[in-house]
Amino acid sequence: MKRRDFLGAGALIAAPLAGCDDHGAAGMPKPPAVAVGPDGKRLLPWQNWSGYQHCLPQDRLTPASEDELATLLKSAPAPIRPVGAGHSFTSLVPTDGSILSLRRFEGLIAHDATALTATVGAGTKLGALAELLQGIGQALPNMPDIDEQTIAGAISTATHGTGQKLGALHSQVIGLRLVTPRGDVLDCSRQQNADLFDAARVSLGSLGVITQVRLQNVATHKLKRRVWFEKFDTLVERFDELAAQHHSFEMYYLPFCDSAMAISIDPTDEPVSPRGPEQDNDAVMQVKMLRDYLSFWPWMRRRLMNLAADDFPVEEAVDQWNLVFPSSRDVRFNEMEYHLPREQLMATLRQVRERVESRHHEEFFPVEVRTVKGDDAWLSPFYGHEESGSIAVHRYHLEDPLPYFADIESLYQPLGGRPHWGKMNTLTAADFAQRYPRWGDFLALRAQLDPEGRMLNPYLKRVFGLE
Ligand SMILES: Cc1cc2nc3c(=O)[nH]c(=O)nc-3n(C[C@H](O)[C@H](O)[C@H](O)COP(=O)(O)OP(=O)(O)OC[C@H]3O[C@@H](n4cnc5c(N)ncnc54)[C@H](O)[C@@H]3O)c2cc1C
Repeated sequence: MKRRDFLGAGALIAAPLAGCDDHGAAGMPKPPAVAVGPDGKRLLPWQNWSGYQHCLPQDRLTPASEDELATLLKSAPAPIRPVGAGHSFTSLVPTDGSILSLRRFEGLIAHDATALTATVGAGTKLGALAELLQGIGQALPNMPDIDEQTIAGAISTATHGTGQKLGALHSQVIGLRLVTPRGDVLDCSRQQNADLFDAARVSLGSLGVITQVRLQNVATHKLKRRVWFEKFDTLVERFDELAAQHHSFEMYYLPFCDSAMAISIDPTDEPVSPRGPEQDNDAVMQVKMLRDYLSFWPWMRRRLMNLAADDFPVEEAVDQWNLVFPSSRDVRFNEMEYHLPREQLMATLRQVRERVESRHHEEFFPVEVRTVKGDDAWLSPFYGHEESGSIAVHRYHLEDPLPYFADIESLYQPLGGRPHWGKMNTLTAADFAQRYPRWGDFLALRAQLDPEGRMLNPYLKRVFGLE
């Protein structure tokens, strides 16, 4: 029997025994309806991927050229907030001014086949980017879990994959172009406007709008992906060894299960053997069903989870790099991810597990554990570290994430963790100032580029301590 059939059967057996727990949407924000502005203009609501963030902007802008963009940045109703694919969980985008999308800045602009560099439009989504790079014999060294984000949106929040020798996406950026709120067009790299380059690679859409990005890539290659289950305690003990041994390695702690899942990805010359149909989304809904039906019988939930994990065969797949890294995420959620001192990662994961299993019986989403190499972008959560360890917790999109996230977040505070910029957290400007050595330099440069605060929505004002 396959793991998903098994979990499904377990849930069906349990269904008549118990009523479905009410983990409903009480207190969850509700998106605004379509409205009409004072000038009779139809206002269209915007919401992010999870539906948690939303707004009713006065304008939705999609410039077609840098000239048009420069004009809009000077004249459109503020706050002006750039949007990529809307996959961030924090309030980076919502505005009652203008939402500005670069979806018309898409595709390959130039490339160098010898140096393996490529310049692409800022609105290019990672999936399309991967295909166009593959077409010119290049590859991204690493990718996040999904490929729906735009390149500018992804680097702006320090989006990353996993691998202790692999940096976040922005660490591959060797140049970018920014149009400032005053309409200036600035190119930057390590050689040109170096301070701007260090600030702009991870800049939360607060310095201006990025129109193009130059990437240092690697040659296209095949990868082998291996997925297996091991006892949680054994995997925790082996984590450092596996992270050092593999190009890319991550583990998932499954709530209320004695085993955990491991995924390794390594370059290979083996023949292609594709990944096959995605099973993650079904599996998540089935562990949700176990949570719903078996909340009064936690021992039975654990037993079924353990049986399913024991039943899981090792999965192996070999394919072109861009068909191996990303997965699909159809079950919507909100997320909090913290980047922590690497040496504390496993001890902290044990604390997270203890807290989930003693206080959060409602939780069912796998907890993702990754490593990321350090870099030198001023607002990179990986700034100044050799490598960081990340722990990501999730909450089903129709259920209130805040009490759970706050309880887990309190474990990270003594460690001085830095949250993912695109994922929920409760840190204040004072916390960020303490955790980012170049915080003051970033704010000074930001004030210079955007003296009137045209890019600042209420959330960014809070983050930057400008209220
Ligand atoms: C299902 C799912 C899976 C995810 N997996 C991962 C993962 O594996 N690893 C990880 O690190 N993160 C992950 N994330 C988080 C996600 O990668 C980030 O939040 C990312 O920033 C989203 O990119 P986006 O294109 O949707 O940008 P948006 O969320 O729309 O915007 C993000 C930021 O970029 C700014 N921005 C957008 N375009 C521009 C531009 N042209 N110029 C200047 N600023 C701009 C926005 O103003 C905003 O501040 C995931 C999110 C989801 C929903």
